[in-house]
Amino acid sequence: MRDKDIIDGILGEPIKHPPWGGNSKPTGSNKKRTLGSREKQILYDRAKHRCEATGHKIDFSEMQVGHKNPHSKGGSATLRNSVCLCYKHNKLQ
Ligand SMILES: [Zn+2]
Repeated sequence: MRDKDIIDGILGEPIKHPPWGGNSKPTGSNKKRTLGSREKQILYDRAKHRCEATGHKIDFSEMQVGHKNPHSKGGSATLRNSVCLCYKHNKLQ
């Protein structure tokens, strides 16, 4: 194989799942499962900028929305049903 063919093969590779935007915006066809960015900000303020699992401080960028009553059990994406968690504690939930 010539070098040019190899390069063309690499450059011509179609990108089906771009790592930078794999799951961008939900289409809105599903029932709402997550809070909007404004609601997240309110939740973050309500938690006093802390992870509600152990009370350690987190950045807004680290914040995850946990659900007291999981969606699978009929919980909804409301502030009342949400807790402010870090990534780690949200995973452990
Ligand atoms: Zn935490």
